[in-house]
Amino acid sequence: MSINQGTASTVDAVIVGAGFSGLYLLHRLRGLGFSTRVFEAGGDVGGTWYWNRYPGCRCDVESLQYSYSFSEELQQERNWPERFSAQPDILKYANHVADRFDLRRDIQFETTVTRAHFDAARRRWSVETDTGENIAARFLIMATGCISTAQIPDFDGLSDFAGETYHTGNWPHEGVDFTGRRIAVIGTGSSGIQAIPVLATQAEHVTVFQRTPNYSLPCQNGPITDEYARSWKDNYAALREEQRHTAKGNIRELNNESALAVTQERRAEMYQKRWAIGGAGFLSSFNDLLVDRAANETAAEFVRTQIRSIVRHPATAELLVAKDYPIGTKRICIDSGYFETFNRDNVALVDVADTPIERITPGGLVVDGRSFEFDAIVFATGFDAMTGTLFKVDIQGRGGATLRDKWAAGPRTYLGLMTRDFPNLFMITGPGSPSVLSNMMVSIEQHVDWVTESLVHMRAENLELMEPTLKAEDDWVEHVNVVAHKTLFPLAASWYMGANIPGKPRIFMPYIGGVGTYRSICEAVVADGYRGFAFDAGAARVAAAE
Ligand SMILES: Cc1cc2nc3c(=O)[nH]c(=O)nc-3n(C[C@H](O)[C@H](O)[C@H](O)COP(=O)(O)OP(=O)(O)OC[C@H]3O[C@@H](n4cnc5c(N)ncnc54)[C@H](O)[C@@H]3O)c2cc1C
Repeated sequence: MSINQGTASTVDAVIVGAGFSGLYLLHRLRGLGFSTRVFEAGGDVGGTWYWNRYPGCRCDVESLQYSYSFSEELQQERNWPERFSAQPDILKYANHVADRFDLRRDIQFETTVTRAHFDAARRRWSVETDTGENIAARFLIMATGCISTAQIPDFDGLSDFAGETYHTGNWPHEGVDFTGRRIAVIGTGSSGIQAIPVLATQAEHVTVFQRTPNYSLPCQNGPITDEYARSWKDNYAALREEQRHTAKGNIRELNNESALAVTQERRAEMYQKRWAIGGAGFLSSFNDLLVDRAANETAAEFVRTQIRSIVRHPATAELLVAKDYPIGTKRICIDSGYFETFNRDNVALVDVADTPIERITPGGLVVDGRSFEFDAIVFATGFDAMTGTLFKVDIQGRGGATLRDKWAAGPRTYLGLMTRDFPNLFMITGPGSPSVLSNMMVSIEQHVDWVTESLVHMRAENLELMEPTLKAEDDWVEHVNVVAHKTLFPLAASWYMGANIPGKPRIFMPYIGGVGTYRSICEAVVADGYRGFAFDAGAARVAAAE
């Protein structure tokens, strides 16, 4: 195989995306001697953290855990200012990584991959970009992100609005000055919950339109003390290893008691303690919160009580309290003063659960016959998660089959890494892997390592093509589904289920078996001679290990 060539039209691997997945992939593949080109639609590196610049955007995984582990020097020299990093700090980190490992020279920015067709005769992917380039690659690696296609519902009259509109997932780089302006925020998922408290301090008035109330836990953010940073850095090797074998890629203290096996006082004490610590560790207060509805209800009720005690106006508090689905079954939100914001005089909440937004007008919008006037609308309406970004590329596999058609009834993968009939096409954190249910940095590193090692294996064994067997894929799809249904997750109409996109199949897309379990499965597959994958060595077909 050839060496790196930044502008070559034939390469070993094309990587799509220069977020944390694409950056690490490039670093690894380059180090292994594979010629590689990266295409990135954005103007620079960072992915999620490049696009999501809305005020208040912050990570909900602790900084010392949401970072790469592959370089000891990198993790030792990094000083994270806050326990939960703000978007600018994470973006700075992505830029630092790109510079430190000299990655930019193989990344082509402002270039969207529009088409990728598998050329069976040449055994190559033919990749096209919106800048008119055509590149042939043995391997195509989609590092396109799970939450990278912003979604705006198809509101009537949207184009008539005379003011400015923004989506949190595609925020102007220069920022927005909302001083003296009346704004609408549509959506109260993670992004809305992070943005609203900050927007309320900037704008003259904020009206929040809420379809579904979300459970949110306080972040209790603060600076990282030297002592805390040291406690991690001195033990990073062991802690990273521990992280990789946890359920969610996070080191958190899991209390291994059932919420139903302890007294009411013990429950209250535990919830109060975890609420005060802040972050998603609250959901590890007991071991059955995500599998037993009655246990879950005790945690949900605690959070409801907290909200009622924070929000002064009882009717507003009641609207903000989630009642229809178990806590934790939609991505848990982590906030900085979200509920307190509704005590401000310049913030109003409008419930659009039963009476949806009828239409957008030139001056604002109409709900239930009532008109609202705004200077700007902020859409915090989320993403077409996990499959939306892949479907935006015209991906055709063997025999012209399109990915979109193959996945019409829901994504079908083996291990979330590959899908049959699309040889040598890999996905980083694809559907069917833990991905969005985890600390994504841990999942990204594991996928990148697995994929790059597979390429090394193929090179060593003179194998040209790799793809899952039908049986392995069918079994994995079923396993993902069975495991999901052992939990409470399918009870919520969440974006994990595709429920935020009209017409999208209702399938629980990520693998909920846990990051550690999943890693062991991936390792066992390799140890068993890549069980469930078929390889093609060109002339001689290599039997698949089943
Ligand atoms: C607001 C927000 C908050 C988040 N908070 C957390 C958190 O607290 N903890 C956590 O673990 N995860 C969080 N995530 C998930 C986050 O996406 C991952 O942690 C991680 O950044 C994903 O990295 P990635 O490289 O896989 O994908 P991304 O960062 O999404 O990067 C994908 C890149 O691919 C590019 N791309 C896509 N399609 C094409 C194409 N056709 N051609 C060229 N380029 C393309 C995109 O422009 C993008 O830059 C959050 C996501 C969002 C949106």
